[in-house]
Amino acid sequence: MATTGESLPVPMRDYYDDDFLSRDEIAALQDQRLPEAVGRASQAPCYQQKFAEIGLDPASIKGLDDLQRIPFTTKNDLRAAMPYGLLATPLSNVVRMHYSSGTTGIATAVYHTADDLRYWAECVARGMRGVGLTNDDVFQNMMGYGLFTGGLGFHYASELVGCMTIPSSAGNTARQVQLMKDFGTTGLHILPSYALRVVHHCEEAGIDIERDLKLRVGFIGAEPHTEKTRQRVEQMLGVKIYNCYGLSEMAGPGVALECPAQDGLHVREDHYLAEIIDPETLEPMPVGEPGELVLTSLRRQAMPLLRYRTRDITSFKAGECSCGRCHTRIERITGRSDDMLIIRGVNIYPLQVERVLMGIEEVGSNYLIKLETNNEMDDLIVQVELRPGVFFDEMRKIDSLRQGIVAELKQELLFTPKVEIHQPHALPVSEGKAVRVVDERTK
Ligand code: ADP
Ligand code: ZN
Repeated sequence: MATTGESLPVPMRDYYDDDFLSRDEIAALQDQRLPEAVGRASQAPCYQQKFAEIGLDPASIKGLDDLQRIPFTTKNDLRAAMPYGLLATPLSNVVRMHYSSGTTGIATAVYHTADDLRYWAECVARGMRGVGLTNDDVFQNMMGYGLFTGGLGFHYASELVGCMTIPSSAGNTARQVQLMKDFGTTGLHILPSYALRVVHHCEEAGIDIERDLKLRVGFIGAEPHTEKTRQRVEQMLGVKIYNCYGLSEMAGPGVALECPAQDGLHVREDHYLAEIIDPETLEPMPVGEPGELVLTSLRRQAMPLLRYRTRDITSFKAGECSCGRCHTRIERITGRSDDMLIIRGVNIYPLQVERVLMGIEEVGSNYLIKLETNNEMDDLIVQVELRPGVFFDEMRKIDSLRQGIVAELKQELLFTPKVEIHQPHALPVSEGKAVRVVDERTK
């Protein structure tokens, strides 16, 4: 062909190959992309101001060695910059906006160019292909569609992989199960708290998951959950379940995903530069030590964020993954730095309670942690439901279950909580992320 003077066709790039970049290739890409990201960010009024305040010339950021000179970005910066202070490109280049869920306060907007959306879909799709999803799969996306990123984030990825995508969104459990049954759903994306509700619905509706459904793989994410919860979902649905982490500020799901080894989440390091810091001293934490995850979006155009303090607590995993990917791994998120509850001087994370509850056979999947002030003392009340199908004919048996739960919680929390046992489905449920803590203390 070359003799005719025509140029050779450029081979189609397969985005999945980026999962298998070598350590050196990843480092080289980050070194090149960090200054580019700083250059793009410097177009946004918020960063212009931040850089001016500390006298930072964005052009002086030449590579990874200069990372520490870049200031952190916080959720407060995002709030102060609303609506357009962090926009780094003319609005004419923006094709979509999302809103963070506002779990911990005022929601903030995030903008996307067409390229941002493509990269986002690729990051998630890499995870989907990594666990064996193909165009032969039927993928039911049971996360809320709309301003929340969980739904649309997986939607375009699933289409990119070529799955027949069922955009069933969140809620309406009976219809979800019907869709799974009628269309032979093989893959799904679901909130961990909702997955267990779906299982209970199947049990009550007499659907035999193994016989009536074809599920084989699922992704859970968007809210903290324990390894026990994952195992419960896997066991009850009879599928492999993979953890997917993300946040609206970094596009959404797909920042870090598990691979078939299920041994930590690989950060998409060609797109996101991850640091883990001590939230007090802001110094980097050694590998294996928990701290606050800080992320820099290396490729995002509409709203690049530099050293964004996620408030999510995790640690880097040491060593190489058996799957062969070199992208660094983080541990399952154990909660947000501002999730910590202080009760009578004891620090407690809600996930510690979940870890205990999900290991107890008779306990259902929904639970609520209530904080109250009684006689000027703080009380921690853990409300649990009996698992559907579990019946107690004697009060004595319920009481001994209750005492068992108190004892296990006491061992984990180093604090004696009150435990209330309710009938199945008695506690409130939410359509979106689960609300696990209600603080009614008088301050
Ligand atoms: P909001 O911060 O208002 O909830 P988002 O919808 O952007 O808004 O949610 C992102 C947050 O959800 C993350 O910062 C993290 O706290 C939580 N999250 C997302 N995925 C996971 C996961 N796989 N495990 C634990 N927490 C997660
Ligand atoms: Zn791996």
